[in-house]
Amino acid sequence: MFFTEQHELIRKLAREFAEKELTKELQEEVEESGVFPKEVLDKMAKAGFFGIKIPKELGGQGADARSYVLVMEEISRVSAVASLYVSSPNSLSGGPLLLSGTDEQKEKYLRPVVTGEKILAFGLTEPGAGSDAGGMTTTAVEDGDYYILNGRKTFITMAPLSDFAVIYAKTDMSKGSKGITAFIVDMKQEGVSCGKPENKMGLHGCATSDIILEQVKVHKSNVLGEINKGFINAMKTLDTGRMGVAAQSIGVAQACLDEAIKYAKERKQFGRRIGDFQAIGFMIADMATKLEAAKQLVYKTAYLMDTRQDASMNASMAKYYAAEVCNEIAAKAVQIHGGYGYISDYKIERLYRDCRVFTIYEGTSQVQQMVIAGKLLKK
Ligand SMILES: Cc1cc2nc3c(=O)[nH]c(=O)nc-3n(C[C@H](O)[C@H](O)[C@H](O)COP(=O)(O)OP(=O)(O)OC[C@H]3O[C@@H](n4cnc5c(N)ncnc54)[C@H](O)[C@@H]3O)c2cc1C
Repeated sequence: MFFTEQHELIRKLAREFAEKELTKELQEEVEESGVFPKEVLDKMAKAGFFGIKIPKELGGQGADARSYVLVMEEISRVSAVASLYVSSPNSLSGGPLLLSGTDEQKEKYLRPVVTGEKILAFGLTEPGAGSDAGGMTTTAVEDGDYYILNGRKTFITMAPLSDFAVIYAKTDMSKGSKGITAFIVDMKQEGVSCGKPENKMGLHGCATSDIILEQVKVHKSNVLGEINKGFINAMKTLDTGRMGVAAQSIGVAQACLDEAIKYAKERKQFGRRIGDFQAIGFMIADMATKLEAAKQLVYKTAYLMDTRQDASMNASMAKYYAAEVCNEIAAKAVQIHGGYGYISDYKIERLYRDCRVFTIYEGTSQVQQMVIAGKLLKK
């Protein structure tokens, strides 16, 4: 309903790529080593996945939100961690530059991200400021042609792998979220360091760590957008980001459903396929129905964005519902696998761990509920 023939072709290409390149062997290797191989990332860059939403003049595909959602869904269906490398340049890290970057900034920082030569991180969260990102305490103090940054960002996806990071910092402590500015920080520069990569429950193969900023001198040419308008930039970036997490969720949920159906047809107990027991069949019916509803929400959000309509509330609805449903489907898929679902030789064990964070990052489910209720109950 929301897609053209061109979109279906993009889905087919992404699916074929994922099935051919993101093999079971690769995923086992990534799980084991915690490292995603550079040669596979290069192939993803070459296939155009890092620039789906980036304009053609910056080396991207210039495609729409629906194309982005379809690629995210198909890549996540095979490998959730691989999809993080797609979402970062297209949304969370590239988004702030697309929204507020000057032509020079986009040329310098976005183009090499599209080709996969460089990695960019998004630094909003702090140890004491997660859901309440406006409560951040990282400061940026003007000093001649520079700003001096001090503070600590936490849980930053790909921080240890990054060349640059968009860092949000307070330029006016008295103004709360209206006193935040975005900066582009070179990760190799003096005063910038990363914490130890976190030992995560899932999404192995994409390091997450703190970014520590100690007297970091950032030239004014690296201020991103207007002074004290950084929070608006972050929130608009998160609209697309949330749609991306929603797309990840439907991709992983589809993989869980596929695994559950396959297993329910194979496994026999009491002389029958377990899928023939109504308890299992109804679970699968519930999973498929909720997944279909989630898909329609995600696709509609992308359609609203493509047709320049307000998609902010829908992005929150899609993220909230798809992430919750994905977790529910993953839990039921493990249940259908019985004891084998708890063993890491079975794909469902990884899917269950990988998707747990979907209801948490880029705004928890509770934060999405707050956004939705806030819009509906606005005075
Ligand atoms: C793997 C991973 C990758 C991440 N990547 C990035 C990244 O690249 N960049 C970045 O900036 N951040 C990143 N994050 C941070 C992520 O966005 C935050 O963890 C998230 O926003 C929640 O913040 P918190 O962890 O501080 O939880 P808290 O805000 O402390 O929340 C704790 C609990 O309280 C609830 N809660 C909080 N406030 C309210 C309220 N007002 N009403 C009701 N319930 C409430 C929450 O829903 C949650 O259940 C990442 C996190 C993880 C785990």
